[in-house]
Amino acid sequence: MKNSNRTASIVAAVLLITSGFAAATPPVPGPMPPPDNQKLAHDIFKEIVEVRSVHDVGTRGVADILVRFLKAAGFTDGDIHVLPEEKYPDQVNVVVRLTGKGKGKPILWNGHMDVVEAKPQDWSLPPFQFIEKDGYFYGRGTSDMKDEDAALVASLIRLRKERFIPDRDIIVAFTADEEMGEEQDGMWYLLREHRPLVDAVMAINPDGGSGQIENGKRLNFGITTAQKTYVTFTLQTTNKGGHSSEPRPDNAIYELARGLVGLSRYEFPFKTTATTRIYFGKTAMTQTGQMRADMQALAAPKLNVEAARRVAGDPPFNAILHSTCVATMLSGGHQENALAQSATATVQCRLMPDETVDGTKAAIEAAVADPRIVVKPLGTVLSAGETPPNPSLIALVQTVVDSMWPGVSVIPDMSAASGDSIFTRQAGIPSYGIGGGWNDINDVRVHGRDERHEIGDFYSCVEFTYRLMKELSQAE
Ligand SMILES: [Zn+2]
Repeated sequence: MKNSNRTASIVAAVLLITSGFAAATPPVPGPMPPPDNQKLAHDIFKEIVEVRSVHDVGTRGVADILVRFLKAAGFTDGDIHVLPEEKYPDQVNVVVRLTGKGKGKPILWNGHMDVVEAKPQDWSLPPFQFIEKDGYFYGRGTSDMKDEDAALVASLIRLRKERFIPDRDIIVAFTADEEMGEEQDGMWYLLREHRPLVDAVMAINPDGGSGQIENGKRLNFGITTAQKTYVTFTLQTTNKGGHSSEPRPDNAIYELARGLVGLSRYEFPFKTTATTRIYFGKTAMTQTGQMRADMQALAAPKLNVEAARRVAGDPPFNAILHSTCVATMLSGGHQENALAQSATATVQCRLMPDETVDGTKAAIEAAVADPRIVVKPLGTVLSAGETPPNPSLIALVQTVVDSMWPGVSVIPDMSAASGDSIFTRQAGIPSYGIGGGWNDINDVRVHGRDERHEIGDFYSCVEFTYRLMKELSQAE
């Protein structure tokens, strides 16, 4: 996962660490796999965490380990495809198939094998050693997402060992370079170059979604069905400049500043989607008073703008109620006694599913209301529509969650973070972010220092993956 929107949680986590408070005791884990499968999951997990599969190194090392475990368990060369990318040969993908009875199109699971860089001097433990300490497994990738990769391999092997024949094929794609993204992203590469190998009726991405824990209590279990698109613009003014002793009405800095004030007052239209209507309807139950009434109003198909505006007073809810753009960087001028020849602002936008870069550019231009301010998008932008939450899938996941963690509610959500589901959605495959590992929202270490996974939670994540993989492969 990249570009997480959980800034508030990260700030809270930093405060927690720097102020020296211990995190709350984790809740009792859910059911665990049989001991032999636990050992297998542990051994795979340990080996792959100890491979430094960052962008510059690539994913071959992890791919080799996964293939070795799969072959030792009886998967054949016909079941396993090892696919280095032609243009980026260090970025290696692995696609494995557990062949079923052919009743319907396969289910695709996808997990990335790369990790974000970790510098030993920033960590209190060596980041590429798998260390068990104080009830946690430590190491880069222990929560994003080598834990889920190990769970996927261990579950495939368990199903095969049990001689389970699924109704539909189960495909698992272990992919390269998700954290860097773009052309060499393994999931995107597979969809472009090897579509028949990964073609499926739906994709399950354990990188997105998951259960949330706060103060040692389980809150709810999120399924990510939509994500916002990330796009950055520059806003630039230019001027012939001159001596600062002779200012004129035309001025690059003042023109840009006035435009930014206009942008700061602009409110993108509120909208709800199939995902957020269910999300607000369910989240209303955890609220009281006006907030509860407003969230219930937002569950209705017709938008209540006043309710949306009140709920949007809370920044995390604001983020899922409309597109947002915000100035994040500013530069201008070249010398203290010269009139500025240019001024530039960087404006970061997060777009609701189905909104376009061109439409957003037009909205910014209207908000700044000055044709001298040139608005340009930076880089390529990927976007994909929402996967409308399929009620029977949500119900099936709820059944599996009930069997693991009774009393926890499954809630579809929209993420402002991006990940590989954007590629599968773009390719027309309905995609669900469903991860079996739980996160303490006040102690998020993904991409950060001393990344870790609570030991009991890791094993129950393996068990959840097995149960969901099995159930889904037999569903209508
Ligand atoms: Zn990830």
